[in-house]
Amino acid sequence: MAAKEKYPEPSYLEYGFGELEHDVIKKELCCYCGNCIAFCPKIDKEGNRPELIDYDPLCGLCYAYCPRTMLDMPRMEKRIFGRERKEDEPLGIYKKAASARIKSSGVRAQDGGVATALLIRALESGVIDCAVVTGRDEKWRGVPKIATTAEEIAAAAGTKYTITPSVTGVQMAMDQGFKKIGFVGTPCQIQALRKVQLLEEPYQFGQKKIALLVGLFCMENFEYERLFPELVQGSFGLSPEDVDKFEIQKGMFRVLSGDQVKEVPIDQTDDYVWKGCGPCFDFSAELADISVGSVGSKSGWSTVLPRTDAGAKVYEEALKAGAIEEAAVSEKGLALAGRLAKGKEERFTAKTAELLGRGVPVNIRR
Ligand SMILES: Cc1cc2nc3c(=O)[nH]c(=O)nc-3n(C[C@H](O)[C@H](O)[C@H](O)COP(=O)(O)OP(=O)(O)OC[C@H]3O[C@@H](n4cnc5c(N)ncnc54)[C@H](O)[C@@H]3O)c2cc1C
Repeated sequence: MAAKEKYPEPSYLEYGFGELEHDVIKKELCCYCGNCIAFCPKIDKEGNRPELIDYDPLCGLCYAYCPRTMLDMPRMEKRIFGRERKEDEPLGIYKKAASARIKSSGVRAQDGGVATALLIRALESGVIDCAVVTGRDEKWRGVPKIATTAEEIAAAAGTKYTITPSVTGVQMAMDQGFKKIGFVGTPCQIQALRKVQLLEEPYQFGQKKIALLVGLFCMENFEYERLFPELVQGSFGLSPEDVDKFEIQKGMFRVLSGDQVKEVPIDQTDDYVWKGCGPCFDFSAELADISVGSVGSKSGWSTVLPRTDAGAKVYEEALKAGAIEEAAVSEKGLALAGRLAKGKEERFTAKTAELLGRGVPVNIRR
């Protein structure tokens, strides 16, 4: 039986932006991935939220591909991997787990620079014709960018711990005529783009142009308008321009500025967390072609989980070409990543129960 018939797509086109606003945005479930803004010309950014700029009573595409509406993980897993995730797979389905790091020096990467190396390799081998990355401005606001050279990909290395509608970069890339788009982003952004790819509604809006999804591990992200004024400037006394790097290490949220290190326990950063991160269960970007994170590997290395054939091919080619080097990931490291993933899932269960108690259903099937 064809996959299309086996896992039929539920139709949500009878819903529209009004429902998206009511069910997701006003309920603070929106993860501000940028998917609805990217693929609908009638939706734009307004402050930190999507806003309808032109009414279309006939279209409900935004509701259908929002990662916070009707996210049916088992169904998507079957479509992507041919099977559902098992209970004892807290990091989702993957072909192998390894530690790896970029071999070329000069990239100011967050961890092992593997996200950067994989995208560069995919670009150089023709798997993608551009990479949509999240760069930043001088004040550390995340900025979606289209990178077409190794230098541009490398320039976007490093984690920006503030919510950014990075998926809007995919639409910019489509508008500019790119046909094999690589994307790197957080689990919610990967869920969004997978929903777009798998949508079986009679619309063609470039789904087939999404060629490679590199997912990042993510426990949560932060709201720029709170993190910077209250913590970075307020508590740490640093202006955004002076920050060299943010990192989360050993339970501490750290800001590196010259030879100064300012830090606070991560559990004291709850006030700055983006509200829409609460109803998220996905730590390791389970729907990506390949996932990359810091937890599980030594400092300066990344934990890598190639998941699909496409992800495994790019990873193996990067190894073969000498772009990255590999080391065994320790069982202890992998178990730690698994425990964090389970912790995020438990937080999701508690949060969704709390939301339901307030009359806010979260339509996600894990
Ligand atoms: C918000 C956030 C939270 C994270 N939390 C964890 C965690 O809890 N545990 C863990 O192990 N790892 C976490 N990570 C992943 C980790 O910070 C590194 O991104 C990952 O280890 C890859 O490192 P690298 O050196 O290979 O990446 P690099 O080579 O430095 O490349 C990083 C890539 O990330 C992209 N990027 C940066 N900021 C964003 C953003 N805000 N949104 C989308 N894309 C972005 C850039 O485009 C860049 O290409 C988080 C990442 C993000 C963005």
